[in-house]
Amino acid sequence: MKSYSLLAPAKINLDLEIIGDRPDGYHQLVMILQSISLADHILITPHKAQNITVHCTHSQVPLDQSNLAYRAAKLMQEHFSEHSAEYGGLDITIEKNIPVAAGLAGGSTDAAAVLVGINQLWEIGLTQPELCSLASQLGSDIPFCIGGGTAIATGRGEELDPILDLDHLFVVLGKYESLAVSTPWAYQAYRQQFLDQYLSDQDSIKNRISQTYSSPLVKGIMEKNGQKIGQFLHNDLEKVVLPEYGQVAHLKETMKKAGGLGTLMSGSGPTVFTLCESQQEADHIHTQVKAQISDPDLTLWVAQLSSTGITINN
Ligand code: ATP
Repeated sequence: MKSYSLLAPAKINLDLEIIGDRPDGYHQLVMILQSISLADHILITPHKAQNITVHCTHSQVPLDQSNLAYRAAKLMQEHFSEHSAEYGGLDITIEKNIPVAAGLAGGSTDAAAVLVGINQLWEIGLTQPELCSLASQLGSDIPFCIGGGTAIATGRGEELDPILDLDHLFVVLGKYESLAVSTPWAYQAYRQQFLDQYLSDQDSIKNRISQTYSSPLVKGIMEKNGQKIGQFLHNDLEKVVLPEYGQVAHLKETMKKAGGLGTLMSGSGPTVFTLCESQQEADHIHTQVKAQISDPDLTLWVAQLSSTGITINN
């Protein structure tokens, strides 16, 4: 039986605003999510036994049932038990290029690739909205990772409104290899400090979301105006992560001084990115930052913004 090879892109946040609490315990968010060309490669190979195995050589990626790719495969087995019995178990190999616990949705995009791959392999025929609905049971970022591109995300981040693609821009990304920020910690710390600013009634929440739809950042995206987008990048979680992690704050300052259209921490961090007009500008900033922070623990990447989510290679 055929194996499937898939490309699973990372995401960055051009915007992340925390609006309030939800009855389900999650935060009410409004975000602008953007796929980039930095991507994991996922290979899904069927086998006769019914079990699921995960292979990955990255030391920080779990190979057990806590791996999001494993959980995605398990979810498909549970929902489509007849297909599972007919086609057998799965070997999932993850070639990890996206840094782990970095605010780039690395685990989520692997899970998205597994959902898309199994849908093909078992010839289930789920549509993208059906796949997204399954994906939202596993994690808030996974529906976005399936379709990718540029989207306004609300709710927990799973309600998506795709907007104009921005694939003409580039980013330089920087992350300290040994530094990881826990996403639950970042949101809890934010709640502790800013609870008094949370909105609770539905009308105020709707108003706040519609403000983002008509914000200068969204206008900049619609106009494909890199200068405007760079100027209005925003992430509420910087307010708790940067004071706690001095290295990240310093990296952001250094990257900002090196030029580009704007600099921001992605998601709950600790990855910081600078938006750039061209690959040449991104390469220049990459060289400048490398020269200014000569720490072997710091890794820098150049990537292009991407209009695609999960893609099947074969
Ligand atoms: P997000 O931006 O969605 O919050 P992240 O980029 O900050 O995610 P991940 O790279 O998904 O974080 O990793 C978070 C944790 O999830 C890791 O510490 C790791 O132990 C666990 N994990 C489970 N499955 C995977 C996977 N397939 N790839 C990477 N990490 C995984």
